[in-house]
Formats: sequence, structure tokens, C-alpha cells
Amino acid sequence: MQTNGKHRLRDVKFLTESTYILQMDRNGLEFEAGQHILLGADGDLNQREYSIYSGNNEEFLEVLIKEVDDGDVSIKLKDIQPGNYLQVEGPLGFFSLDEKLIPNHKFLFVSSGTGISPFHCMVKSHPELDYTLLHGVRYGKEGYESHHYDKNRYIKCTSGDQTGDFAGRVTDYLLKHPIDKSTICYFCGNFKMIREAMDILDKKGIPHNQLHAEVYF
Ligand SMILES: Cc1cc2nc3c(=O)[nH]c(=O)nc-3n(C[C@H](O)[C@H](O)[C@H](O)COP(=O)(O)OP(=O)(O)OC[C@H]3O[C@@H](n4cnc5c(N)ncnc54)[C@H](O)[C@@H]3O)c2cc1C
Repeated sequence: MQTNGKHRLRDVKFLTESTYILQMDRNGLEFEAGQHILLGADGDLNQREYSIYSGNNEEFLEVLIKEVDDGDVSIKLKDIQPGNYLQVEGPLGFFSLDEKLIPNHKFLFVSSGTGISPFHCMVKSHPELDYTLLHGVRYGKEGYESHHYDKNRYIKCTSGDQTGDFAGRVTDYLLKHPIDKSTICYFCGNFKMIREAMDILDKKGIPHNQLHAEVYF
């Protein structure tokens, strides 16, 4: 079922000073893991795209949002009190898994910042996934809910301190590690990271039809 309506906010959970999860009623919304919604405050014409963070087997709907300095919507949404309503449209987009490939392929998920959100949804929705998740953040404290992932599959790459699993950017990690050419690769986050990471995997011989990207900004 599509939605074009009001969803009651249940909870606002802060993961860092500027990053938070909005949990809202699902209202029967059906979606494929990896898709996004358009979200805004009830009655506000200003909406932005947010990937769905919660799994498609959960009875609520969640998004993971980082407040952008001087941003409009990402700042307003964090101040909405539980019990009030959000305006949701969707689901939207084609950034999703080809389910028939799941049983016999490895998946590589490459993310920066809140770009981890669609991968959180994919992992929750498909517990059988054979994945490796690279998460690029500046500081170790930005490893949003990293305990939700299998610790042997989640690699936090920190560029600003040494508290992650790998010191450096996700692109440094990709340059230093081999990859099986049959791996299906997904990228999500800022454009610069995605362009550099795709270029590295292209040079390592991963076919173009195995590279999928969702650019946030
Ligand atoms: C398909 C899609 C899915 C998205 N999913 C998410 C998500 O799950 N979580 C999330 O936090 N954001 C996500 N975004 C980004 C989001 O839609 C907004 O752009 C962001 O929240 C800023 O909106 P704003 O109104 O606060 O700022 P605006 O006033 O619209 O923009 C201010 C400036 O901030 C830049 N910007 C946008 N996002 C970031 C960022 N994360 N860090 C630094 N600068 C940024 C914009 O390019 C712009 O220049 C997604 C974007 C797309 C296209």
C-alpha cells in the first residue's frame, strides 16, 4: 500500500547531538528495503527525501536524520513532539535488492554518514543476507546503532580519529582490500564518496551492472 498522508510520530531518539531517529506509525505502508519517503511536518509544504531505516518486517516506520547546519527540514523535524503528525509520501525510488540474487551472492554496502540508513533496512529486512557493510564517519561515536549489525560484517571507517575498525575513509579501505568480482555493490551517501568508491571498484573489475548508487547530496 502507498501512503500520501499523515503518520503519528511515536518517538524521537537522539544517537548523537545532531543525529536522530524518528519513529512513526507505519499505517500499513508497504515498501522494498532501500526505498525512501518524502517527509515533512504536518501542514508544511517543505518536504525532503529520507531513506526508510526500519525493516519491512517491523510494525513501525523509522528514518535516520542528520541535522544539516542552516538546513530547513532536518532542523524542524527534530523538534516535533511525539503524538503530533508527520506528512509522508511514498515509497519512492529504485534503490533496492534483486531478491533472487540474495541466496547465492555476496553484497558490499558502502555508506557515509546517514547513508547507512537503507542498508540498516536491508539487513533488518533480509537476515539471510551475506553482506559486508562499510560505514564512513569522521568520529567513532557516529557509528549509528552499530550493534544492530553482525560485528564480523560491519566495518566502521573513521577519518577523524582512531576509534573505528579501520583508520581512514571507506575509499582507503576499498583500495587496500581485495574483492570478489561477483560481489553486488551498493553505495549511499555523499556524491564525492560514491564517485570515488565506484571508480575504485570499476578499476578492480566489478561489472557496471553490479554497481548501484543512491546520492543524498
Ligand atoms: C533519495 C534521498 C534519500 C535521503 N535520505 C536521507 C536520510 O536517510 N537521512 C538524512 O539525514 N538525509 C537524507 N537525505 C538528504 C535529505 O533529503 C535532505 O537533503 C537533508 O536532510 C537536508 O535537508 P534540509 O531541508 O535540512 O536542508 P536544505 O535547506 O535542503 O539544504 C541545505 C544544504 O545541505 C546539503 N546537505 C543535504 N544533506 C546533507 C548532509 N547529510 N550533510 C551535509 N550537507 C547536506 C544540501 O545539499 C544543501 O546544500 C536524502 C536525500 C535523498 C536525495
